[in-house]
Amino acid sequence: MATTLGKKSAAKNSSKKGAGKESKGGKPGRMIYYFGAKQCDGDGTMKSLLGGKGANLAQMTKIGLPVPPGFTITTQVCIDYYKHGKKFPEGLEGKVASFVKLLEKETGKKFGDGSNALLVSVRSGARDSMPGMMDTILNLGLNDDTVKGLAAATGNPRFAYDSYRRFIQMYGDVVMGVQKRHENENDPFEEVMEVLKHELGVHNDTDLTEESLRELIKRYLHLIKQRTGKNFPQDPFVQLLGALGSVFGSWMNDRAILYRRKYKIPDEWGTAVNVQSMVFGNMGDDCATGVAFTRDPATGEDVFYGEYLVNAQGEDVVAGVRTPKPVAEMADDPMFAGTYKQLEKVRERLEKKFGDVQDFEFTVEKKKLYMLQTRHGKRTALAYVKIAHDMVKQKLMTPEHAIQSADPDALSQLLAPIFDQADYAAAKNGGRLLTTGLAAGPGAATGQLVFTASKAEELAHAGKKVVLARVETSPEDLRGMIAAEGILTSRGGVSSHAALVARQMGKVCVAGAGGIQIDYAKGTLNCAGQTLREGDAISINGSTGEVFAGGIKTADSELLQVLIAETMKPEDSLVYQYYAFIMKLADKYRKLGLRTNADTPEQVKHAIAFGAEGIGLTRTEHMFFEGDRIDAMREMILAESEEVRRAALAKLLPYQRDDFEGIFRALAGRPATIRLLDPPLHEFVPHEAKAQADLAKKLGLSPEKVAVRVAALHEFNPMLGHRGCRLGISYPEISEMQVRAIFEAAAKVQKSGIKVKPEIMIPLVGFKKELDNQVELVHAVAAKVQKETGEKIRYLVGTMIEIPRGALTADEIAETAEFFSFGTNDLTQTCLGMSRDDSASFLPHYTELGIVKANPFASLDTTGVGQLMQIAVDKGRKTRAGIKLGICGEHGGDPHSVVFCHNLGLDYVSCSPFRLPVARLAAAQASLGKTY
Ligand code: PEP
Ligand code: MG
Repeated sequence: MATTLGKKSAAKNSSKKGAGKESKGGKPGRMIYYFGAKQCDGDGTMKSLLGGKGANLAQMTKIGLPVPPGFTITTQVCIDYYKHGKKFPEGLEGKVASFVKLLEKETGKKFGDGSNALLVSVRSGARDSMPGMMDTILNLGLNDDTVKGLAAATGNPRFAYDSYRRFIQMYGDVVMGVQKRHENENDPFEEVMEVLKHELGVHNDTDLTEESLRELIKRYLHLIKQRTGKNFPQDPFVQLLGALGSVFGSWMNDRAILYRRKYKIPDEWGTAVNVQSMVFGNMGDDCATGVAFTRDPATGEDVFYGEYLVNAQGEDVVAGVRTPKPVAEMADDPMFAGTYKQLEKVRERLEKKFGDVQDFEFTVEKKKLYMLQTRHGKRTALAYVKIAHDMVKQKLMTPEHAIQSADPDALSQLLAPIFDQADYAAAKNGGRLLTTGLAAGPGAATGQLVFTASKAEELAHAGKKVVLARVETSPEDLRGMIAAEGILTSRGGVSSHAALVARQMGKVCVAGAGGIQIDYAKGTLNCAGQTLREGDAISINGSTGEVFAGGIKTADSELLQVLIAETMKPEDSLVYQYYAFIMKLADKYRKLGLRTNADTPEQVKHAIAFGAEGIGLTRTEHMFFEGDRIDAMREMILAESEEVRRAALAKLLPYQRDDFEGIFRALAGRPATIRLLDPPLHEFVPHEAKAQADLAKKLGLSPEKVAVRVAALHEFNPMLGHRGCRLGISYPEISEMQVRAIFEAAAKVQKSGIKVKPEIMIPLVGFKKELDNQVELVHAVAAKVQKETGEKIRYLVGTMIEIPRGALTADEIAETAEFFSFGTNDLTQTCLGMSRDDSASFLPHYTELGIVKANPFASLDTTGVGQLMQIAVDKGRKTRAGIKLGICGEHGGDPHSVVFCHNLGLDYVSCSPFRLPVARLAAAQASLGKTY
């Protein structure tokens, strides 16, 4: 990994988005940027160099918000760290020392000073936030000596020793690697604490006195020595260097890598590190710490939303160890009413300055407010559409930002299921409601109960739906959270790890359901006198926080009820209205056309509701499986003479004509790219002896004959045999029947006053002559039908570009083809030499190893397959300047691939109806210059 990172230089890094602006404050090679009252080197535009956190700390300092001073070590240093085999670049240590001096000057404190020590936090900060994935260290600078000074200065020795033990615990874990060794082992530091508490007969951490905390520290230091053979470092500068190395190191930890894969964040971005003077939310009852959103990140409501904990440190809120109070309660608390007023003003300034909902952390130290970080708040898709709608209307957000800031994939959440109302009511009335926790990730989930991430993954792999229940989650649970339908925790608030991650992933989540007791050892969940075991059915409602025993049927989302089932009117659904606002905005920017892959009139209707402007691919073969047409199809395949084949085809003709007629009518004048038969014929014949015998009987053939023919048709993957245009060339009568059906349907529909725009597409073309052969046939049949019906039909004939030879000889092929549609499913398998049907057995491992950045069948391999597409586009246009270009492989609904297609200058993307909202938004983002 280190080498991959190392090889990508600064030049690569700076070519990414936003880098242009960054030369502004940054001298080349500068490793550290200061933020403080007198000197503030960076600003909010410098995210790729300072990371999101560093850039925003600088920006908040610049606009006069109370930010504790500190400095940011750039992402470039992280890149260099990996380039030099995990060593700091030359000169870094000296630079860090001089910035520590500057910080000492501003704070009037000193590193290691026995009576007035400077204490700092060391936090990661990548360009895009990766919540909880990398390491953080607080209270750095404490040692056996400075702890005494802190005790004296605050007059609160208990606080000082508690801070020291927290620091040792964090540092021991993160820098020195003293951690639990398997999933269900307790944290070793927690274990030491539990033993001590047991010896002392106390229950809460807060019951530990100064003296017992000193004892705890002794035991912690011993644990570290025992586990690592090393002493805990007492020199603050040594502590700092250790912490820096470990934060840089955490960029490449498993969970950070997994997170980047999921969110497609490049490894080569690196993380910045922020060293910031400490403020304390745990010095007493006039102190607090909190996390707040300027609007509700789950629903998008314009309310100040968040949580705080009195007398606590920041990680207590995020870790969900104690359940915090809603921030609104601060207003009624005499101790914090003033701070609350100040926070309300901060809320307003942040939205105005950053132009989006902010998720910020604050600390109150002795009633004084400090801002520790701010970032664009992660939100559910529902909150996204509502916030974008509201903030654009309030002129707080630019329409461009409303489009650019979306995660198009997340829009699918709006289509996610909700509980079937009747079944839901039955569960409630039947006494199956176990408890209600916090509604942390909207939607309905039902599945088998599991308690560990590994079990969740294992069952999900086997095709089971699971709900993952944990006391609280930690980043190690990420894999399980990805695999689960829903996540349930018994502890923690709406900004706990479980809630944050679920919201971002669009997972259904109920957090902090205090009424349930989870026993990992026994594998049980107890609640309200009931016991559920691993594997039992459980249902959770992430919109209300309800937890139910047993399964509950799920039903269509509101959006689907408006758009598809039409059981709800648009004016009755606010969700629909927000969604429609965003889609309209997207259409304003979008340059790519939007088509759909649809094979039935119903699918076409759905697609049009989602914004499709035509069909990009009709796979005609899907029509042959309906009803008893498969019999005629099989008869045709088993025919031993052209005559018998034609007779069977004649039976299929009326079916196909009806199919096309329905499609043309549903399209109401929009274009339809219809592909002639593509798959190899063995896909249509039965393979089991019994089914073959039945077929033989039906067709009046001997079972042996059928078996022989089926065996002759057998093909091995990757399905590159007798398929595509090769079929139409071998059996022209099949193409003739299909073309006749298309034109007869077109003539009929056109005659009824509805426009038709058929585009006949020939699959799997690698040679111009293959295309010529089929195009000649198309023109001949089209001419015949037009003559017979007296209808003049305007149509196009083109081809799929889906094998490399087709792409490489696109100039020749474009002499005949009036359009190209990239069949990137086949183009990927043929370019990569990787069977699309067999790759699932090794691709996940490939992704983990970083051999491929993402599954190339889901997200275009732009360097390889993309190059073939570029060649085809260039060569195709050279021959036929105005050639129509589109894509109809699965990639047409993938945001990254859509951006690539936009940059290639394609005319449209085509994808399945339910991916259209995603493609629509991604296409608008592409026009606004989105890069990945
Ligand atoms: C393709 O190959 O990308 C394509 C759309 O065709 P099919 O998936 O039907 O092979
Ligand atoms: Mg194909």
